[in-house]
Amino acid sequence: MTAMTTTIDRPTHAYLDALDTIIADVIAPHAAEVDRAGLFPRAALDALGAAGLLGLISAREVGGLGHGHRAAALVVERISHHCASTAMVVCMHYAAAAVVEAHGPREDREAIAAGRSVATLALSESGSRSHFWAPVSTATEDGNGVRLDAHKSWITAAGEADLYVWSSRSLAAEGASTIWLVPSDSAGLRVAAPFDGLGLRGNCSSPVVAEGVVVPRDAMLGADGAGFDVMMAAVLPYFQTMSAAMCVGLMDATTTRTAAHAGGTTFTEMGQSLADLPTIRAYIARMRVATDMARGLLLDALDALESGRDDAMLRVLEVKAAAGEAANQVTDLGMRVCGGAAFRKEVGVERFFRDARAATVMAPTTDVLYDFIGKAACGMPLFG
Ligand SMILES: Cc1cc2nc3c(=O)[nH]c(=O)nc-3n(C[C@H](O)[C@H](O)[C@H](O)COP(=O)(O)OP(=O)(O)OC[C@H]3O[C@@H](n4cnc5c(N)ncnc54)[C@H](O)[C@@H]3O)c2cc1C
Repeated sequence: MTAMTTTIDRPTHAYLDALDTIIADVIAPHAAEVDRAGLFPRAALDALGAAGLLGLISAREVGGLGHGHRAAALVVERISHHCASTAMVVCMHYAAAAVVEAHGPREDREAIAAGRSVATLALSESGSRSHFWAPVSTATEDGNGVRLDAHKSWITAAGEADLYVWSSRSLAAEGASTIWLVPSDSAGLRVAAPFDGLGLRGNCSSPVVAEGVVVPRDAMLGADGAGFDVMMAAVLPYFQTMSAAMCVGLMDATTTRTAAHAGGTTFTEMGQSLADLPTIRAYIARMRVATDMARGLLLDALDALESGRDDAMLRVLEVKAAAGEAANQVTDLGMRVCGGAAFRKEVGVERFFRDARAATVMAPTTDVLYDFIGKAACGMPLFG
């Protein structure tokens, strides 16, 4: 039996050929440096844009490739196999693009489809923390426009993306939120601190302050006060499945690299490899099983979304929690199996170990998801 690596499925699409070339030529060769120096993967984004892949989920009528959740998850998974930082930038781009596709102006939809605009989500705030559904930042009428003030706590690709899909309190509806499309070069926007993270170091996820940023009223995405509905309908299914795909990609890579290390590392006195030890093989088996279980749930979540199954929302909630926790366990086992050698970057496991830590604390966090899933299982309303 040969060593296995698998992907979400094995479709043949022209865009996957283009992606594989970009991965081989740009993303994989730069991954270690992107991580070490905390560099935004600009060359990768440029190449993805030129190949039409930033328009993957944009409608054909605006020049996009017209794909959906499955293709987005597949692209993120394949990239994550080599560079989770780049995978998360692309994940945020598609999640934001989904909102612009649903509610944005044609001009911005065309710019995203053509690869001219990179988009990202600006939901988390220092006041609401991971409770993205309850922003404390404000939107107020300002002449013919709207004034936005905020302390966003994390925006992936801060200062690098062109468009922020931005949440605020509603203009008029008490206790509700509104979503806006904010150009990143708007006057009054400031990246507050450089990103020097533990993992996903190349995604440049920094705090951003907005002081008196004025946008036109038609920068509103969806209705005033309908922010929660926009987040649940457009953002959540994409973000959850792509986050899970990022985890599956890095788990698969960690398992493959760990098995390769175990098979190629010899105890001289026994003339045996690490892989000859039953305990080591059992750890690798647990990594493989956890990875494939996460992949199985992801495939089922994608099936549920595509067929409009009754349990689609439950699967969407489950898939990020399951994959995020599994990614932490699998990368932890990878570090154990590879021993002291794992502390060295050449083995290629420690980067994924650090990257995986973000999966459980990115909103909705695992704890919040468990709360929602538990409420759903107990027949209770998710909110309120
Ligand atoms: C690498 C990275 C990139 C990011 N990129 C973006 C981005 O592009 N856009 C964006 O909007 N945000 C982004 N975020 C922010 C992310 O989505 C979360 O909002 C953020 O990680 C939460 O951190 P916090 O310190 O505010 O957590 P807190 O909200 O303070 O949570 C701390 C702990 O409390 C738990 N907790 C919180 N609320 C509950 C609850 N109700 N029930 C049970 N437990 C709870 C959490 O699970 C967590 O373990 C990014 C985060 C990271 C790490």
